Amino acid sequence: MNPPAIAIDGPAASGKSTVARLIARELGYTFINTGAMYRAIAWYLAQQGVPATDTNAVISLLPGIPLQFGKENSISTVLCGGRKLTTELTLPAVNDSVSVVAAIPEVRAFLLQKQREYNKSEPVVMEGRDIGSVVFPDTPFKYFVTASPEVRAARRAAQGLTDSIDERDKNDRSRRCAPLTQAPDALLVDTSAMTIDQVVQLIINDIRLKLAR
Ligand code: C5P
Repeated sequence: MNPPAIAIDGPAASGKSTVARLIARELGYTFINTGAMYRAIAWYLAQQGVPATDTNAVISLLPGIPLQFGKENSISTVLCGGRKLTTELTLPAVNDSVSVVAAIPEVRAFLLQKQREYNKSEPVVMEGRDIGSVVFPDTPFKYFVTASPEVRAARRAAQGLTDSIDERDKNDRSRRCAPLTQAPDALLVDTSAMTIDQVVQLIINDIRLKLAR
């Protein structure tokens, strides 16, 4: 049996990254940001001048993409040719193409394997769109973190980002393969009127209750 896997899913700018990171820190688990994995592929394609819409080209490039998925101080990292990717992952070209790349089933299968790998030897808090529904369907620790569209747009603007989260969410919800969805057994957490600390405590309390069973 694998160590515990905490699945945190939700739409863009719902606060799930911040919350997942804090939960991982409090529990001493490794934090895995799966969005960064999809973003790294989108970034690499943009670097190579390959349009994300050219599905055949993306699929044929996949096995040779020199990305490494690792971790540093209990936080997932993505390296390309040994260089850690950071600000590259939120470039406009990446924001605009990532949900197109993420809709390709072969891309998802490629990353699914790497995401599960993280949980083979250690407990993880993993955030994304399909963690509770596809990556760890059997975990009892599933949380769907959301907020009203107005609150999410305001949070995005406060981060200084102006990308179109509506369009990305629409693409993520409507794709055929592993769409953004609340797993039936996930706890819905609407953070619109909650502080980050309240969200973290609510989820940690639920995790601790389930761990004690
Ligand atoms: O979490 P973040 O906003 O960085 O994710 C960027 C994009 O990566 C999402 O809009 C989605 O298209 C894709 N993604 C996904 N499945 C995940 C995580 C991210 O499809 N588990």
